[in-house]
Order: sequence, then structure tokens, then C-alpha cells
Amino acid sequence: MPDTSAPTRPKPVLDIKSQFPVLTRDFGGMALHYLDSAATTQKPVEVIDAMDRFYRESYGTVRRGVYRLSEKATAAYENTRKQVAGLINAASEREIIYTSGTTQSINLVAYSWGGKFLKAGDEIILSQIEHHANIVPWQIIAERMGAVIKVIPVDDSGTLIMDEYKKLLSERTRIVAVNHVSNALGTVNPVKEIARLAHQAGPGGKGAIVLIDGAQSIAHMAVDVRDLDADFYAFSGHKMFGPTGIGILYGKLPILESMPPYQGGGDMIMRVTFAKTTYQAPPHRFEAGTPPIAEVLGLGVAVDWLRRTGLDKINAHEHALLEYGTAVLQDVPGLKLIGTAPGKGAILSFTLDGVHPHDIGTLLDEDGIAIRAGHHCAQPTMDRFGVPATARASIGPYNDATDLDALAKGLRRIGEMFR
Ligand SMILES: *Cc1c(COP(=O)(O)O)cnc(C)c1O
Repeated sequence: MPDTSAPTRPKPVLDIKSQFPVLTRDFGGMALHYLDSAATTQKPVEVIDAMDRFYRESYGTVRRGVYRLSEKATAAYENTRKQVAGLINAASEREIIYTSGTTQSINLVAYSWGGKFLKAGDEIILSQIEHHANIVPWQIIAERMGAVIKVIPVDDSGTLIMDEYKKLLSERTRIVAVNHVSNALGTVNPVKEIARLAHQAGPGGKGAIVLIDGAQSIAHMAVDVRDLDADFYAFSGHKMFGPTGIGILYGKLPILESMPPYQGGGDMIMRVTFAKTTYQAPPHRFEAGTPPIAEVLGLGVAVDWLRRTGLDKINAHEHALLEYGTAVLQDVPGLKLIGTAPGKGAILSFTLDGVHPHDIGTLLDEDGIAIRAGHHCAQPTMDRFGVPATARASIGPYNDATDLDALAKGLRRIGEMFR
């Protein structure tokens, strides 16, 4: 008898696994079920090829050389800035700063903006479900400047409690820094409303500024920084099908122009003497030293790939799989989902009765299933839900229902082993 109660597999919106070399490789007779896109995404062949071709055929430095190789590299390097500006609808490519990743983007704002503008008693508002990259830099600068950190709590589903947020906002609020999508729970935060409210608070009601950590949103939904009215938006290349070592900080130009350099060195100056040095305008003011050139070019190709594949399609594909995955996981005995906010992103965090998340991860690996197990760099989130760690399956546009079937089957096997 066929099991008529089994959830129906969704019809795939996208069919793109074959564009990802790692996903079509043979792992000792096993297929790879890659369910860790929230940690890092796999790369389409065109990103890999573009970087390889650059090193083989046209490698040269940027913004320094007068020879043709360098001029060509510089043009491509600056063109990625335009592509990224287009992706997020920034007003100008001068608002796009290259960093090494989300972590550095947030540190840049904390040290440069925070180091100049924060005063004793000023308040920084974060949420309870931030990644450590959007907690620790603020703690460091708050301690130095005498500022205070306030935290927006979440309810049992992992949804921010907006009434509590409103109560935290005051004349003392200088910056609100929250993620767009939580990497540990998948909660999609109402960042447009968060920004609107922040802009009405602050000293003299003249507006606190808002930083959005977009590491988990940029590759999974359409992002429009002007519509959100974000002052800063941070993300990483490696979570959007691009290379590691490159990230982006978007910032509104007048705010960037008011900020001092984050690091000093070559390329960020106008004129250096021992008496006085003058700096470049943004974005170059914030880009000291030889940058990761191949990575910037790879990111440009990844942005191109994202736009061609279509963020709306990616979002629809992942959401269908999230619904399916939620249904098949809920059928696994002893499994508890952590993070059940309505409209959440394609992240399934869970615990399994009597099994440590690390054991889940290791045992699933035997079936060729790659998930993350741990605190997901979000220990305060784990504390909120009273667990030291969770297992987390996160979905990308190259996943299909077979990946989630394999996960559910593997989890049943593990559950039986421990019972
Ligand atoms: C991954 C992640 C970060 C940190 O990104 P890095 O690439 O490690 O710098 C920050 N915030 C969130 C929400 C993330 O998922």
C-alpha cells in the first residue's frame, strides 16, 4: 500500500544542480546532499572558470599599474562595484566598499563610525538572535566609548518582539544593528519597519542609524537598500555563490563621507607626508592595501549568475523545499524544530531527543549528508531556546526534494540507533 499521508514533493522551480561541480561529483559511490548553504554556498562553474581564467590569462594588479594588464584588471574590478550596486539598488557604486566579508564590514562600521560618533551613555540596539559578528564588534567599541548595548528579545517562535523594540528606542539610541535573516533560526526580520522606527529616534529625534547584516538574505531574496532605507548593509561573497575572502559593505554616501579610515596604508590616500596625510573619498578611503582582485572578479560573476537565475525564482524554489522539509522532518520521531517564525527563510534548525547535534552531523555524513551542528556563532540564540547547540539543515537553490528525503531517512536511522 502506498503511504498516502506522505508529504508530496514540490515541483522544482529551478533545476541547476548540474552547474555546480561539487554537487555532481561522485563521493565514493554516493551523491552529496549539501544542506549547509547558510554556512557557505557552493560555486557555479562559471565563477570557478572566471577566476581560473583571470590567473591564467590576464592577472595584474589594480589601481596602480599603467600597463594594459593592470588597466584591464582595474576596469573589471571597478565594474563589480557597479554590478553589486545594481543588485541591491544602491544610488551609486561609490557606496559599495570591498571588505573581506560580513565580519569585516561590521567591524569597519563599529570602529570607524562608532569610534568617531559614540559617546558615553549612547545606546546600541541589537537583537537576541544575532550572529557573533554582529555582537562582538559592538561590545568592543561600546566598552571603549562607554556606550551601552540593549537587546530586542524574541518570542518562542524566534520572532522579534516589536513592542519591546519600540520601548528600547530613545534619544540615547545611536545605532540599531540587526540581521535581515537569522542564520540560526531562519527568522526574516521586519528590517524596513525597524529602520523606519530607528530613524524617528536618536538624539533630538534626528534619527538613529541602522546597520543590516544581510549575510543570510542577499542570495535568497531580492534586496533593495533604498526601499529598506538601510544606512549600512553588510554581506559576504562566499554565501552568495562567490568566492571566500571578499565581502561588501554598503553605506549611504553622506555617512561614509563623515567617517574616518578604518585601516591605513596604500591606495586609500590622496597625499602622504610625515606632517599630514589626506585620504581618498569613499569607497577607496576604506580599502587599504592590495585587494583580493580575483575574488572581486569572481564576485562580479556570481552577481551576474544570481541575477540571471533570478532571486524571485531562488526564493520560490527554496520556500517550496522548506515547506516540504518541514513536513518530512516533523514526521521524524523525537525531532523538534527550533525557529518557527511565520515566513521564515529556508533554514531548518532542530534537535533530536537523546542525540547530541554533533553526533547527528557526524552520522549524517556517513550517508553523504552535509549539515551544520553547533551553536552557529549565535550562542545568545541558543541560550534563548535553552539548548547548547542544534543541528541545522539549510537549503540552497541547487537542492531538491531528494536531499530532504535523504535527511529525513538518515535522521530516522539515527533516532533508532539511540533508542
Ligand atoms: C555568516 C554570517 C556572518 C559572518 O559572515 P563571514 O562571512 O563569516 O564574515 C554574519 N552574520 C550572519 C547572519 C551570517 O550568517
